[in-house]
Amino acid sequence: MGLPELETNPIYRNIYFRMSLKVDPIIDDTTLRDGVQMPGLAVSPEDAAEIARLLDEIGVERIELHHYQKPDKDAVKLIQKMGLNARLAGWCRAVKEDIDDAIDCGFEEVGISHPVSYIHFRAKWPDKSPDDLLNRVVEVVEYAAKDHGLRVFVHGEDSTRADWDFEKRFINAVAEAGAECYRICDTVGVGLSDPNAPLPNGIPAKIRAIKYETKIRDVEIHAHDDFGNSVENTIAAVRAANGIWDRIYLSTTFLGIGERAGNAETEKVIMNLYLHYGVKKFEGKTQKLTALAELISRATGYVIPPNKAIVGAYAFAHESGIHTHGVLNDPVTYEPYPPELVGNRRKLTIGKHSGKAIIRYKIIEVTGKEPDPDKLTEVVQEVKKLYEAGRKASLKEEEFKRILQNVGLL
Ligand SMILES: [Zn+2]
Repeated sequence: MGLPELETNPIYRNIYFRMSLKVDPIIDDTTLRDGVQMPGLAVSPEDAAEIARLLDEIGVERIELHHYQKPDKDAVKLIQKMGLNARLAGWCRAVKEDIDDAIDCGFEEVGISHPVSYIHFRAKWPDKSPDDLLNRVVEVVEYAAKDHGLRVFVHGEDSTRADWDFEKRFINAVAEAGAECYRICDTVGVGLSDPNAPLPNGIPAKIRAIKYETKIRDVEIHAHDDFGNSVENTIAAVRAANGIWDRIYLSTTFLGIGERAGNAETEKVIMNLYLHYGVKKFEGKTQKLTALAELISRATGYVIPPNKAIVGAYAFAHESGIHTHGVLNDPVTYEPYPPELVGNRRKLTIGKHSGKAIIRYKIIEVTGKEPDPDKLTEVVQEVKKLYEAGRKASLKEEEFKRILQNVGLL
């Protein structure tokens, strides 16, 4: 179940659930692989397992994991023991040792990552031809898929700056070798969501070209946020896949953590799919989003920006007079949906733009009774004085109580 209010309030019905998809979007979360590659982040095996459990509960269907260092191997073991619904995938380079390591760790599925752009080829293997590199990937895919029966995804690193003629041959070759899915990696975040944007970085164009010009079974998008377009590019891939692909995998990270500017946020992609496209499988699961954000923050040391959409501390905070007045009359004035839908909380705070209505509301909240109008004016004056003296931060609960004591309301 979602929130009953979403079903019954005509304001929500008029905005949400009005589009639908013929393609099945599958969240392939990489918080525990790309996410923790963000500078300065690390996570213990026990916390990684707890994160995986919650990812599974919010509707993630494939979880990508590192498995090279001891703590990563320990995390993989703990996660495998939990028997999640989500599939677990080991992240590998295109070398047999990595596949062997994934097999040793008990993975039944791997993602094999290899660049597909000449930019990367020249920088990393100046002496090898594109065909040499293609053959080496094919050999490793065959080793994993045909010799060892693993499910194989191939990640085309830097796809959005690759030569399409080469990339097309690459995709067909890995499909033939046994890969079931090709991941478009927008490695430096230059992808465009415009349906008219051409290859190599037009995301909808690439989703269509892969369908019509290659024989790979499934497709995936992995979008980075260097231009701030990662969520839009992820959803653009879904729109482009709609009606032509059976399913599309979406590689995202919770809170968007990851290399440089990070990735598309799992929580944003889920909320867009659920509310705008009516993807029912997330219904009743979104209530855990804020708890998961807080767990990841505690586990990794990543500080969530307070204005982070959906899960941030201020995502449903109201302080200015106009906003608090509106929200006190009807929260829908300044909230896209009730905060409980994502497990977050409404916060009414007192600050430099606060008006009488919110201060009266807060007095009633603290004292339990309607203040006398003179006393209310006195409190409003006291708050005003503080901010005229240069204060910036919102009032803390104790500070507000002290004011109430000073004017005799408490
Ligand atoms: Zn990445």
